[in-house]
This record gives sequence, C-alpha cells and structure tokens, in this order.
Amino acid sequence: MNNLVETMINLGLGKPAPLKRYGGEATFFSGNLHLGAGAGARCLEAVCRNLKDADVRLSYDGGTEVAGAINAAANQHGLNAEVLAGNGEPRFNALVFDGSGLSDTTQLQAAYHFFQPRLRQLANSGRVVILAAPHKAAASAEAAAAQRALEGLSRSIGKEIGKKGATSQLVVVPERAEDNLDSSLQFLLSPKSAYVNAQVIRLRPAATASSPDWKQPLAGKVALVTGASRGIGESIARTLARDGAKVLGLDVEPAAADLQRVMAEIGGDSLTADITAEDAPAAIAERLKSLGGADIVVHNAGVTRDKTLANMPEHWWQMTIDINLTAAQRINRALLESDAINAGGRIVGVSSMNGIAGQRGQANYAASKAGVIGYVEYMADELAARDITINAVAPGFIETQMTAAIPLMTREVGRRLNSLSQGGQPVDVAEAIAFFASPASSGVSGNILRVCGQNWLGA
Ligand code: NAD
Repeated sequence: MNNLVETMINLGLGKPAPLKRYGGEATFFSGNLHLGAGAGARCLEAVCRNLKDADVRLSYDGGTEVAGAINAAANQHGLNAEVLAGNGEPRFNALVFDGSGLSDTTQLQAAYHFFQPRLRQLANSGRVVILAAPHKAAASAEAAAAQRALEGLSRSIGKEIGKKGATSQLVVVPERAEDNLDSSLQFLLSPKSAYVNAQVIRLRPAATASSPDWKQPLAGKVALVTGASRGIGESIARTLARDGAKVLGLDVEPAAADLQRVMAEIGGDSLTADITAEDAPAAIAERLKSLGGADIVVHNAGVTRDKTLANMPEHWWQMTIDINLTAAQRINRALLESDAINAGGRIVGVSSMNGIAGQRGQANYAASKAGVIGYVEYMADELAARDITINAVAPGFIETQMTAAIPLMTREVGRRLNSLSQGGQPVDVAEAIAFFASPASSGVSGNILRVCGQNWLGA
C-alpha cells in the first residue's frame, strides 16, 4: 500500500534524481571542472593546489581578464587547463567560481558570464562552488554588496539545479584563510556532500594541518559519539571509524546491547551512561583520558517530546532541554577543565532545521536545537585560543526510525520540501560531521551546516 502511494506520488511529482554518494573513490573529485573568477580573485592558487590531487579535466573561458591568472595557478600545480571556446562542450561535473576579489557590483557580471552559458551543461549530481570574501569585513559598501550578492546567487543556483541532484554552495574565505580552504573544497566537490545544498561555510585564518589522507583522514584520532547505538549516531560512529578514528560510543542502558554490537563491528569501545546524569561528565572524561584524550567529540544524543506548548507538561520541556542542550555543555566543560580534549580537537553539535525555522508542536525541541546554535557560535571564539574548533550540523528530513513513524502523506510532503525533492540518509549527516572532524578543518569553526537538501523551511 505504502509502495503504491509512493509510486503514485512519484508519477505526479516526478521521481527525484538519485544522489551520488561516496563509495570509496580514490580521490575527492573525478570529472570535468570548469573554473572561473572575478577580478582580484584570491583563491585560484588554493583551488588548483587541491585539484592536482583529483582526477580532473580542468577548463576555463578564454578571453576574460582572469584567464591569465587561472592559467598561471594551474601551471603552478602542474595542471593542464584547457581553454573552452563556445558552449557546445562537455558536461561539467563541477563549476567553481572565485568571486573573492569582487569589489563592486558591476563586477558581478563576471559571475553571470561564467554561469549563464554553462549551468545547462552541469551533469547530474554536479557541483557548484562559489568562493567569496566576508562582506562585513569588506573595504567598501560596494564591495560588501557584491560579496553578499554571491550568497543569493548560490542559493538560487541551488534551487535551479536541485532537480538534477546537483548542489551549490558558498565558501566565505577571509584574507589569510586561503590555505584553510582545502577541507571545505574537497568535501563540497565530493559525493560526501550529496545532501548538503545552498549552504555557506565561513572560514577563519588558522594554522593549517597538512592535508590528510583522503581515505583515512582520521587515522590515530579518538572520537566520542553520544547516542551511537542507532540512527544518525550509529552512522556517525561508522563513518568516523571508516575514516580511521577509534570510536568511543555512548548510549543509555536500554540501548547497551545495540551499542555493543555496533562498536564490536567497527572496533570501537562502549560506554553506557545517561548524559544528563550528575556523574556522566566525569565518567566520560575519565574514559577518554584512558584512551589518550578525545580528538573529536560529537554530541548527537537527542530526543523529541512533541506537543503544542499550550499542552506541554513541564517534564517534557525540561527533559528535552536537558538532553539536547544542557548535557553537552556540562560534558564539554568537564572535558575542557580536565584537559580530556586534545589540542587540535573538534567538537560537533547536532542542531536541527526546526531549531532554525521553529516548528509547531516542537517548542521544546526547537528551543533546545536553537540553543545548540547559540552555544556553538559563542564557543568558537573561546575555543580558538585552545586550538579547538566547534561546529554543528542542522539536519533536515533524514530517513530514520524517527521519521519513518510520521504518517505517510505528511512524511512524503516532508521529504519532498527541498530542492533535491527527497529525504537525506543518516550517512549524509555523518559525512558533514566527518568534514568538521578533519585535521584539515582547523579554519572551520562556529559554522552551522544544514544537511537538508536546501529545505524550504527557515532557509
Ligand atoms: P534516535 O532516536 O534514533 O537516536 C538518538 C539516540 O540518542 C538514541 O540512541 C538514544 O538512546 C540516545 N539518547 C537519548 N537520550 C539519551 C541520554 N539521556 N543519554 C544518552 N543517550 C541518549 O534519533 P536520530 O534520528 O538518530 O537523531 C540523532 C540526532 O539528530 C538527535 O540529536 C536529533 O535531534 C537530531 N536530528 C534528527 C533528525 C532526523 O530527521 N532524524 C533531524 C534533525 C535533527
């Protein structure tokens, strides 16, 4: 019956494009990449430095004022960049535009000339990445306007190409953060970002770690994952282990058997605890220290207790705030005070699209998930001095036991309300967390990354 309804919906709305996800590819990108830029672009060297490790056929438009700069950056890294004339040319797997040097709005024309003839040639599951400068730090109001315009452009492209399963993102690169671009560029160009669409990643200048091995970027790292027995947490644990990390999975006593099974499969350790318990932070700190300290801490455990606020019992409110928000703060405090997080550490929270947009019947949940955002944005500055980053993912509609319980029609509407016209998989959230966790993400802190296919709620 459910299959019949889904088939009918697909017939009416069209079947969504299948998303290409990571399947162990040897490099982050494979295919045709067309590179363009506006005047004064600062990131061409960084882009080409990354592309030399990809399986790329690189091209650019001849006759533009930046053609020489693109060619020089490519040559510097031994890449053979082809000049494309006309537009009857290949299908592109990626279009990358460096707008970081735009200093007034007339220069936006370069973005138009780059994308307009090429967008139609973007392949299924293709990638658009636009590089920009932080508009609030711009040298003039005109430059600020031009830079902020790129965000609107990227979000609109995301809506235009979503039906192909293709995505568009903006990376904001302040001056002196060009060397911090690697992990964002590689993640966004790769199939690992399949369900991330129309997002903005803001970099900050930071000491760079050498770019880690693409297959095992987390080798030698210790990662704590709360709520790791099932759902998104299980996928996070599996993904971090796939990338080389030793995982300490945590969950509540009733989930102990599932937790142990998952940890046994990935060579991880288990810790049974309720994260809201008085003694939990100290127990976690002690366990992590016995493993040599944590390099990655993922606060994934969470609950929903849905009712309209007018009907909500106080203990539902309190439980949701305690588990989803307060517990992670207490644990972080204890870990930081006892030096149980190593230098170069990565803390990742799990917020939610509903924390951004608000949701009827989820006042407690939305408040807790919005609180995660406030906490992350504040802590990023405090932790920078300790060489620790903190970020959060904000999942949209992800196919889990939680969303499977939603009535069919509501569920079908929920999964369709985004530019990719489908729900995401737990692994999509996990890949975004692995990106934050990468040693190369030292310049990525204070970000809230939605993993929602460009959901139309709160976008
Ligand atoms: P889930 O219910 O399948 O998993 C949550 C896990 O957290 C469970 O294993 C549970 O036992 C554990 N947990 C709950 N309370 C705990 C406590 N006090 N101490 C220790 N562990 C505890 O949920 P999920 O769908 O996998 O969600 C994981 C996270 O992602 C949650 O924070 C959720 O709010 C968030 N999220 C999910 C979606 C979605 O579409 N599924 C969307 C947005 C955000």
